[in-house]
Amino acid sequence: MVTRECLAILNAISLPVVLMDGEGRIKVANAHALALLKGELPKSIASLVATDLSSFLKAVRRNRHCAHLTTRLVEPLADYYPASSRVCRDDEWQDCYLIELFPRDLAVGGMSRLSETRRREASLQRNYVRARETARVALSQANQDPLTGIANRRAFDHWLEQLCRESRDNAFPFSLLLIDLDFFKRINDTHGHEAGDKVLCAVASLLTASLVRKGDQVARIGGEEFAVLLPNTDRRGAEDVAWRLVMALRSANKQAQSAGEVSDWVPVTLSIGAASWLPGQPLSSSALMREADEALYLAKGQGRDQAVLLKTAD
Ligand code: GH3
Ligand code: MG
Ligand code: MG
Repeated sequence: MVTRECLAILNAISLPVVLMDGEGRIKVANAHALALLKGELPKSIASLVATDLSSFLKAVRRNRHCAHLTTRLVEPLADYYPASSRVCRDDEWQDCYLIELFPRDLAVGGMSRLSETRRREASLQRNYVRARETARVALSQANQDPLTGIANRRAFDHWLEQLCRESRDNAFPFSLLLIDLDFFKRINDTHGHEAGDKVLCAVASLLTASLVRKGDQVARIGGEEFAVLLPNTDRRGAEDVAWRLVMALRSANKQAQSAGEVSDWVPVTLSIGAASWLPGQPLSSSALMREADEALYLAKGQGRDQAVLLKTAD
């Protein structure tokens, strides 16, 4: 599978390029390459997968407007393209390659083939480095909440779908927590919107710091709403983590109270609705979100400042 990061980098490269894996199969072409190839290859990126290099290059050569150049990058895209770009052979990981396509009329007359190749390699390398940085910034901005700096709803939706797939494939349970700050409107009304923003940032940091297990993820999915994903975690584990988060806020409030005037912490509590998926059950991300939301509604109704997991049917 080609990762989103990899696609973003390829599309940020302003030259026509295709990506080839260590086995010589073309995996993906960027928009410039597709435009250049015109009708020579199927336009659909998916249908390029597994086209072998020699027939691909034949197609390129048949195209009267194209020459070709194969370039191996010093830093290959393998990190962004982990699943199939690296073929493990004799315990050696092979890298993937970028192949630049360029119009014949760009070939410089009189220049030796070797120096032209070197010149283009260097230009592709520079373009790749710029594209990687552009893609990195664009992707992190697209997935980041600008106020708190943690992941946003978009990133969360992506993680959730990924976690559903991985958990089903590996038959691991996982859990989801929906978190809503209590009476947040009052905080804004009493202390002002700016103070409210600071509370959101402080809560985001506290939630992040309270999640100690690698792989646990937190995101701000709405105004004063957060969500946590807990891979490989069953109902019991979810309840433990949810209560740990409730207690973290309670103890921050207590500490601020004893610090008195010195502290600028605005006391706030949170309500949490939890839902777990266990192997063997039917799995739907939206059903799981609904279940957690229902539990959150109960937590609000039962007095807030608490975590709730719906009772199981059995
Ligand atoms: P409940 O305990 O029932 O959740 O009460 P609540 O006041 O938290 O719920 P309600 O949904 O009525 O209010 C949410 C408030 O969150 C209203 C909105 O102004 C505030 N809010 C949403 N996004 C932001 C933000 O980015 N910054 C600030 N300061 N406030 C926000
Ligand atoms: Mg809310
Ligand atoms: Mg609220």
